[in-house]
Parts: sequence; structure tokens; C-alpha cells
Amino acid sequence: DGKGFFIDLTKCTACRGCQVACKQWHKLPAEDTRNWGSYQNPKDLSFITYKLVRMEEAVENGKIKDWLFFPDQCRHCIEPPCKMVADMDDQQAVLHDDRTGAVLFTSRTKNLYPDEIKGSCPYDIPRADQESGLISKCDMCFDRVMNDRLPACVLACPTGTMHFGDMDEMKELAEKRLEEVKKIYPEAVLGDPRSVRVIYLFQTSPSKFYHSAVASLHGPRRFTRKEAFARVFKNRR
Ligand code: SF4
Ligand code: SF4
Ligand code: SF4
Repeated sequence: DGKGFFIDLTKCTACRGCQVACKQWHKLPAEDTRNWGSYQNPKDLSFITYKLVRMEEAVENGKIKDWLFFPDQCRHCIEPPCKMVADMDDQQAVLHDDRTGAVLFTSRTKNLYPDEIKGSCPYDIPRADQESGLISKCDMCFDRVMNDRLPACVLACPTGTMHFGDMDEMKELAEKRLEEVKKIYPEAVLGDPRSVRVIYLFQTSPSKFYHSAVASLHGPRRFTRKEAFARVFKNRR
């Protein structure tokens, strides 16, 4: 059944330990950042930022009622749309590991169309490098996991927000915690637990956290050029 994460957002303090640990393990350079009116920093995921703690203000009657923190990363979809689209150009560009379920972007992503890959992802995750044409995202810390080590972000989290293990166990943990949390937050919900390997527990509506927090927020996806072409070709046969 592979591996998975359970991310309990009720416990996240936005310390950004996970974000920094991800950078360190992957030896990714720092972003050139500037103040854009939020504590969220950098502003978005990028080719060199695979994990980002997003921050939103929950405003009620004109007053900030709460902060909503959302450590965003690739969900390692069970049936990854990014791979389906990538396969139309190069079947070795995006790999889907049998043992862990990790979805891995290789150096052959330079053979792909970045906008199509980004557009295929219901969670708006992949980002391209303008110069090299490569596309990147979270790799589940595949090298660590294959050596029985926790992903760097999970290991770094001091609050018990992030969990990693066998997918069955993560699902069970998520369901159990949801029941507990619902007593305090009746709107609490799990994000797409049947279709992803990174299950978030949201204490309130996912739409308040981020516009692509769950797949249903994404809206109907436009067909990419390749998909449209494949359809036309199929209909002609
Ligand atoms: Fe691919 Fe996006 Fe799913 Fe990650 S979250 S596996 S990038 S479709
Ligand atoms: Fe980064 Fe690894 Fe965590 Fe993915 S699993 S967000 S690559 S630290
Ligand atoms: Fe939240 Fe844990 Fe990341 Fe800190 S390390 S921002 S508590 S998920």
C-alpha cells in the first residue's frame, strides 16, 4: 500500500521548521525575498522551494479571529494526473515508485511542457526553472525513506503536526484524530483521503486555507494541447 503523510493542521504553529529542513536536505538555495505584506515567506512554491508554510487570516466581523497555517507540498497522488500528462511526451520524465507510491520528477522533465504539467496538478504544485526547462517538486525525501529514515520535514516538526509511515496507518491515524478534533471544530475535515498520500486534517473549510488546498477547489480542468490532440486522434480511428 506504500507510504503516506498525515498532517494535522490543528497543531501547526507556522514555525517553518519543515520548510527549512526541506531546503537543507535538498541543498536548495534561499529565495531572494521581499516584504509583500504577509509573514508567509517566500510568497509561493518555486523550482527551489518544495515546501511552503502558507498563512491566511481568518477574519470575522472585520477582526482577525485566527491564523490558518498550511504547510503545502506535493500530495503524491495515488493516480497522479501530472504523470498521466507527462507520459504523453516522455514516460521516463515522471516516475511512480511501486514500493512507496512516491511521484518523482526526473531530469527528463525538461522534455515536457511546464504549463501542461502545472495545469494538470489539482493542487498547483509543480514549478519549472526558466533557464533549464526542468520541473521540480517534493520527492517524498525518497533517498531518506528508502534508507528507513523519515522525510526531513517530518523529522524537523516539533509540534506533532507532521506524521509519516505506512499509508494504512496514516489513514487510520487521520480518521481517529478527525473524530477527536470534531468535538472542538465541528467543521473539521480530511483533504481528499482516498486519492492522495498526504492527508491533511483541516479544522475548518479547506477553502479558507488556500485556493488549491483540496482538489474540488480547483474547478474543471482545461484540456491541455496534448490531451486535446490525443482525443481527436482517438476519435478518427
Ligand atoms: Fe503530481 Fe500534483 Fe499529485 Fe504531486 S500533487 S503527484 S505534482 S498531480
Ligand atoms: Fe521536502 Fe522531503 Fe518534506 Fe517533500 S518530504 S516537503 S521533499 S522535506
Ligand atoms: Fe507547522 Fe510543524 Fe512545519 Fe512548524 S515544522 S510549520 S509546526 S508543520
